[in-house]
Amino acid sequence: MSKTGTRLDPHLAMMGIQTWRQRGAPAPGDGSDKARPQAGVDELDWGGLSEHVASCTRCELHATRIQTVFGSGNKNANWLFVGEAPGSEEDKQGLPFVGRAGKLLTAMIMALGMQREEVYIANVLKCRPPNNRDPMGAEVTQCERFLHRQVALVQPKIIVALGRFAAQSLLKTTRSIGKLRGERFTYAATEIPLIVTYHPAYLLRNPIDKRKAWQDLCLAKGLLAP
Ligand code: URA
Repeated sequence: MSKTGTRLDPHLAMMGIQTWRQRGAPAPGDGSDKARPQAGVDELDWGGLSEHVASCTRCELHATRIQTVFGSGNKNANWLFVGEAPGSEEDKQGLPFVGRAGKLLTAMIMALGMQREEVYIANVLKCRPPNNRDPMGAEVTQCERFLHRQVALVQPKIIVALGRFAAQSLLKTTRSIGKLRGERFTYAATEIPLIVTYHPAYLLRNPIDKRKAWQDLCLAKGLLAP
């Protein structure tokens, strides 16, 4: 292939990928169903759902949170990224993925040719587990209905599960992330495709795996192609 020279895309560079673009090739820039029924929550619209989440006391996490972290982004997004739970910065700001891992997630989204505002970003848990401990089963059971409703409202064309915890919760599996990557799943009882990749916080600790994460994102993008 003839290349006109390296043109390092800064977002791909953060992913550890050096890009070559052919002369004349376009720059990147592209732009269901109901979740499981849960009494009450599955009837809520965006406003009702966010109020419901903000006042939730269904599990002990409400006692230690500063605030809930509902989710953010385009409510009609094609892409839905799902993380684990808010960390300390998210707990302070009330927004998902605003810390160091969030910066990498933004770079991953931009490497796909999108702005962060074009996608929707949410977590399985809406409250921070103290000291960033792993979420507990009972917390997930209480909280996941909110994410199911968000999926039903957004009706994304693709869901990307970020990390083992999100993947196992969304897919109701105990398979390891290594066994889940590289495969097309569908979300719950819907036709929405779902792929699994590493959590950005893991990638910050293990940058060697950024290349695999990029493969996962390319797989997801390929599933969106007409
Ligand atoms: N990690 C997550 O899983 N979610 C966030 O919102 C921030 C860090």
